[in-house]
Amino acid sequence: MLNVFQYTKDITEIIDLVQEQESWKAICPSPQKADMFREIINELGLGDKVQVLTISKFVADILALGEEINKVSKSQLLMDLWTLWKIKINNDYEKYRFCFDLFTEIRSYSLSSEIFVDLKDLIEEQYHEGITLFNAYFNSLEIVDEQRSYNLVGDLFGNSDLDMSYIFWGYDHLNANQIDMLKRMGEAVEVTVPIASNILTNCDNLDWPTWLTTQDYEDSTSDEKEIEVRAYEVPKGRISEYLEEINETRNSNIVHIDKTLSLQKINSLFFDKQNFKVSYELFNHATEDVFNHLNELFKQGKKLEANLFVDKISEISLKYLKENKLSEFKVSLTLKETIQKFIEQSELNENIEIGDLKCVKEILSLDLPRSSFVSLVDSDDLGIYERDFLLKNFTNGKNFLFVEQSSSASLQDSFKFSNELMSVLSAFGPLQSKKYEVLNLKNLLSSFFIKGGEIIFESGAFENSIEWDDILKDIKFDIIDISKSNRPNSLEEKKYTSQKIKRISATRVQSYIDCPRKYYLDYVNKLDIGARSKDIIGADIKGVVEHDVIENYVKDNSEWSDSKHLEIITESFENILETSGVTSTEIMKKSAEAEIVAYTTSTIKELLNAKKDLGLKLEFEVDISDFNDTASGRIDLLVDYNGKKYIFDFKRSSFGIPTKTDFEKYNKIQLWYYMKVLKDAGHEIGGFGYINLSELDTSLIYLCDEESILFEKLFSDCKVQKLKSTMEEALVSFSEVFNKIINDIENEEKYIPAPKNAMICSFCMAGPVCPKSDSEID
Ligand code: SF4
Repeated sequence: MLNVFQYTKDITEIIDLVQEQESWKAICPSPQKADMFREIINELGLGDKVQVLTISKFVADILALGEEINKVSKSQLLMDLWTLWKIKINNDYEKYRFCFDLFTEIRSYSLSSEIFVDLKDLIEEQYHEGITLFNAYFNSLEIVDEQRSYNLVGDLFGNSDLDMSYIFWGYDHLNANQIDMLKRMGEAVEVTVPIASNILTNCDNLDWPTWLTTQDYEDSTSDEKEIEVRAYEVPKGRISEYLEEINETRNSNIVHIDKTLSLQKINSLFFDKQNFKVSYELFNHATEDVFNHLNELFKQGKKLEANLFVDKISEISLKYLKENKLSEFKVSLTLKETIQKFIEQSELNENIEIGDLKCVKEILSLDLPRSSFVSLVDSDDLGIYERDFLLKNFTNGKNFLFVEQSSSASLQDSFKFSNELMSVLSAFGPLQSKKYEVLNLKNLLSSFFIKGGEIIFESGAFENSIEWDDILKDIKFDIIDISKSNRPNSLEEKKYTSQKIKRISATRVQSYIDCPRKYYLDYVNKLDIGARSKDIIGADIKGVVEHDVIENYVKDNSEWSDSKHLEIITESFENILETSGVTSTEIMKKSAEAEIVAYTTSTIKELLNAKKDLGLKLEFEVDISDFNDTASGRIDLLVDYNGKKYIFDFKRSSFGIPTKTDFEKYNKIQLWYYMKVLKDAGHEIGGFGYINLSELDTSLIYLCDEESILFEKLFSDCKVQKLKSTMEEALVSFSEVFNKIINDIENEEKYIPAPKNAMICSFCMAGPVCPKSDSEID
């Protein structure tokens, strides 16, 4: 019998039910949840009645009772299906990866081939071909993946005399195959799924609990009492400066709102005697290093003979061994084994391409060992925990929940596939939405706060979030005033030796103007503190593509054509993704491509028209060291018109464009510096400007040559500004300011953190670690 056990307050209400049976197995979704349930059961004194295990262990144990099966790991499937995709469809790895995810998503709703027919008109032909191909492969080899395992477990319960009673606890989602397994188990044995009554009351027939049984749920809607909670608000990324004040006794448990933690997430929360455990991808760094070397071999779509590629890996691994880089050595050896397996799969794999490299890299990330960091403390009384531990019965110290500003995104639904497709899938099983998770979090928080828990949140953490509005509906914050603790300023007494600048770039000087400390980190200490994900197409990558597309289109064409534009974007985008080593989902690529189309169209059309009407000479990416060999930097667009130079810089949004005041007061010096270099080299400046690619008419444009009609033809929708003085006078006073800054940089000894305004800190990568003192801007 499959039952939903409704509890009103918390899971401990299950005690009577558990006592009714001789013995139980409790099946939890993860080792952490299993540990927590074990703790709950032991506290209830039922430890000898209930054996707790994870769902993967449970499935493996049950399958071991049946016939031998062809169980295939995800990494093996990734390799097998990629080879199939290449043989039958194309060699685009991103498209393959999207299709692989689609196929696994569909299988979590139904294992029947009929579902592919229903989806035919909702997906591109190549994806339909792909999922049909993968399905045929699964069927012909009788492959058992995770979803098929649930199916087989259901069969085994139907055909055997297994007689244990089961509790399934701790799930944020159960998919169609898991629900089917529970139902089939329920025909043979007692199966119980505990869920809080108020969650059940809020579930509708798209949510997984209503797919479990047809039993009526008791309506538990009652007037919730308001809970008052002590709350502390801290600026984003600055909790470490306030924590000592909040947590005076240094005797606390901190639960982070995120479901998984990393060292980066907990390092600002850490005191010296706290217990924690965070997972760590031991070989990530080494894998990046190995693949950065190998990516070089595949620039501009090159293929490499497989044997030569294996030789190259051997060469790299020997180099790592000699340098005593043992992690990199281990990664390169594992890579060699994986690639050899890959080559043996098909003749097509005798030449290795960039897509193969991406596939093998993913396989490696699945197969290489992972590890955890734990704190070495002699007692585990106090700790830093992830969200699920809100349920834990803390017995020591104060308990805080910490909510980061970015956390609200993890509570919002984001479907990878189209709404039409998801609507068809919802007929086969419950959609994996965040609704249950949000309802569950609301429950967990109520009990955490009722037991005296307090909250620390970053400013803006709950803004514009309907999920948080709902979670905090019955919770009232009693905001406590806090001041920053006297965090030591590591800069105070230190003196640095002055440095002569050999090559001057506008970015370098601007960094010093923005904040001397930022300059120190970037150019003296040369710390690369900006972490960049290789899975995300960031604004920097899109910016490079946009510059490239504008240049390539305008250089080689005189008329506008939508198809030509798209062709140039696709080619440039592929090349730049490949050289930068960024891999991304198909959906992200499509959305980035749409943005690039929108950001480049108007500018290209403007430039084509002006080129035709005025016969302009347009030069892109001009190296300013051609004008002065001690200068460094590139001008995005240099226009030659009537013997004068016009200098333009492309920005992706109005955010990157300085205000008129900042520009005229030399607080933003990039264009001033370029003009100075050109003027010193004997050129006349006719005009200049920052071009806003996303909204052309908000660009900041200046005209210095009264006679010129250039801006009647080019960027004609923009308001044209004039300098208050002549260009000569403006450049003379700029040179004075500029020379003084260079002098300051070269004689700097302290590099005090002194941001020009609070905005500078918001975008500074050093924000979370910078020892800003009370005198600095907040
Ligand atoms: S965080 Fe602010 S004060 Fe610190 S280095 Fe960056 S800009 Fe300067």
